[in-house]
Amino acid sequence: MTKPQHHEIVVIGAGICGATITNELLLRGKAVCIVDAASSPATACSSHAYAIAHPHIGKGSPRLLRLTRIAFLLAEARWKNVWQQHGIFQPTKKDKNFDHAQTMEHLLSLGLEQDMAIAMDAQEANRICGVQQSGVWLPRGAGLNLFETSKRLLQHHERLTGVWNRRVNRLEANENKWYLFDAENQLITSADKVVVACAMEAKSLMATVGIRLPLKPVRGQLSIFSIPENDPWVKKLPSVGISGDGYCLPADLLEDGSYRWIVGSSFDEGEDDLSPREKSDDFNREQARGLVNYPEGDLRALKKAGEFVGVRCVAGDRLPIIGALTQRPGIFLATALGSRGILWSALAAKLIGAQLLEDDFALLARLGFATDLVAALAPERFFAGAAPSALGALASNSKPILPVESKAK
Ligand SMILES: Cc1cc2nc3c(=O)[nH]c(=O)nc-3n(C[C@H](O)[C@H](O)[C@H](O)COP(=O)(O)OP(=O)(O)OC[C@H]3O[C@@H](n4cnc5c(N)ncnc54)[C@H](O)[C@@H]3O)c2cc1C
Repeated sequence: MTKPQHHEIVVIGAGICGATITNELLLRGKAVCIVDAASSPATACSSHAYAIAHPHIGKGSPRLLRLTRIAFLLAEARWKNVWQQHGIFQPTKKDKNFDHAQTMEHLLSLGLEQDMAIAMDAQEANRICGVQQSGVWLPRGAGLNLFETSKRLLQHHERLTGVWNRRVNRLEANENKWYLFDAENQLITSADKVVVACAMEAKSLMATVGIRLPLKPVRGQLSIFSIPENDPWVKKLPSVGISGDGYCLPADLLEDGSYRWIVGSSFDEGEDDLSPREKSDDFNREQARGLVNYPEGDLRALKKAGEFVGVRCVAGDRLPIIGALTQRPGIFLATALGSRGILWSALAAKLIGAQLLEDDFALLARLGFATDLVAALAPERFFAGAAPSALGALASNSKPILPVESKAK
C-alpha cells in the first residue's frame, strides 16, 4: 500500500463551507487536499438547490446584524456569476405597526443604504413586489444553488487533491503535524493545518482531541408546490423572494401554464431524520399563506410536487463557529452555519483564509469586520477560562490590523 501523502492544508468536508474555503485557498496560491465521506461534493445539507441570502434587518443582536451585512457583501461579490438576484421582500411582523420613517432610520443605522434596503408601505410593496403588505424590500437579495456552486468550486485544479469516500473518525497530533484516521484506524493523510468543515460531525471529531462543541441538528423540509393555471392562488404568487415566518422563492411559470412554487421550511430542533414528512408540507402550506398574506387561500390547491430535506448544524448561541482553535494549534473550525449557509461560508472563506495564511485582514477590516466580531465567531467563546476575546486567534498574525470596534452597530 502506498504511504498516505502529507499536505500543508487539509479541509475536512466538501459541502458549501469546505468547498468555499478550499476555493479561497486555491485562489491564494495554496495547495489543498479536501477529504469527504461521500463520493462527490455537496451530498449532505449543501445538496440544497434553493437557498436564499439577504442581510439580517431585525432588531436582534447588533453583532448578528453587522455580521450578516458584511457576509452578504462578501457572498454577493464571490458568487456574482451564479447569483440569482430576484430581490427579497421582508414583510412587517403581523403584530407590529409599520412606521416608514422609523424603519428607514433603523436600516440606515445598520449601514444599509437605499440600494440594499428600502422601507415600503403595503401599496408601494404591491406595486414593486406584488406583495400587499408593508415591510422592507431588499433588491439585492438573491438565491444560490448550493449544490451546483459547491461542485463548481471543487472542479479540477492542479493544486487540489480530492480524497473521496473517506470518513475522518479521529485526529491525532504529533510533532506539529495532524494525523487523520478512519474508523478502522487507517491513516488517511497528515497535514500541518486542518480545516474542520464537516457540519454536525465536527462535534464527534473534535471530541477526539478533547474539545466539546455545543452543536445540535435541526431538521428542515422545504416543499415544492404545483399550482394549476386557473387557481385563485395564481394572483397571489410572488415575483420576488419573501423572507419572514419561513421563506419562498419567486413562483415559476411552467410550459403547461401551471406554476412551481418553493416554500419552506420546517425547523425541527434536535432531529436528524431525512425522510420527507407530510406534516412538514402542511406546515409549509400554512407558512405560504402567511408569507403572501392570503389567509383565505385554500391549502389543498398547493399540490406537492417535490421537497428538499436537510439537517442544519446549529451552535448553542445560533452564531456560526468560525476561526482558529487556539487550544489546538493548526486546527481551524468552520461549522454551525445553521440556516445561513450562503452568508457564513463566504465569511468563513475570508476569515479562515486570513487566519490560516496569517496575512491579510485588509478586506475584512474595510468592510467593518472588527475584533469583537472575530470574538463572536471564535470557537473559544464556548470554553470556560478561555480569553474573553478572540484576540488569541489573531496572536500569531504578524499584521493584526483589525480595528477594535466598528462604528456600524
Ligand atoms: C430546509 C433548509 C433550508 C435552508 N435554507 C437556506 C437558505 O435559504 N439560505 C442559506 O444560506 N442556507 C440555507 N440552509 C442552510 C444550508 O443548507 C447549510 O447551512 C449549508 O448547506 C451547510 O453547509 P456545510 O458545508 O457546513 O455542511 P454540509 O453541506 O452538511 O457538508 C458537510 C460535508 O462534510 C462531510 N462529512 C461529514 N462528516 C465527515 C467526516 N467525518 N469525514 C469526512 N467528511 C465528512 C459530508 O459528507 C458533507 O459533504 C437551509 C437548510 C435547510 C435544511
